[in-house]
Amino acid sequence: MKIDVKELLEDKVKSKSSHYVETSESMEGLTFDVLPRVWFTLERVRDRKVLLTCKVETSVLLECSRCLELYPQYLGFSYEELYTEEPFRVIGKLTEEDFKFTIENNIIDISNSVRENIILNLPIKPLCGDDCRGLCPVCGKNLNRESCNCSLGDTVIKY
Ligand SMILES: [Zn+2]
Ligand SMILES: [Zn+2]
Repeated sequence: MKIDVKELLEDKVKSKSSHYVETSESMEGLTFDVLPRVWFTLERVRDRKVLLTCKVETSVLLECSRCLELYPQYLGFSYEELYTEEPFRVIGKLTEEDFKFTIENNIIDISNSVRENIILNLPIKPLCGDDCRGLCPVCGKNLNRESCNCSLGDTVIKY
């Protein structure tokens, strides 16, 4: 979702709020059970800066680190980002990070920021459930669904 913030920068309006559902096209590299629902407010702050306040709710499909099955992971979080028109004045080489929160041609790309924040909020070690029994290290069977006769078969594998 790209939002034109010209009116905010020119102080014609104080803030803009809305909500929408992301498209899978704008969330490249992520797979969803439920597409992200986004509630946002854009607010003009001092020095022609714009503060983005966002609330996101979604369910991402992740691969369980124990049993390797896909499962839906609920995510709900809020965050803020401060956007500026000025390109960051950094001495030396500019990185992509320096331009992350820049307003370009009066446009703020909220989807971009939502996607990055979803990635930041993903669990480091995805688990389909706290009691996931994982795969048998001998025969590779998914022990959540079936048991096997390997000697380790009845042991809950913890990594
Ligand atoms: Zn699992
Ligand atoms: Zn086995």
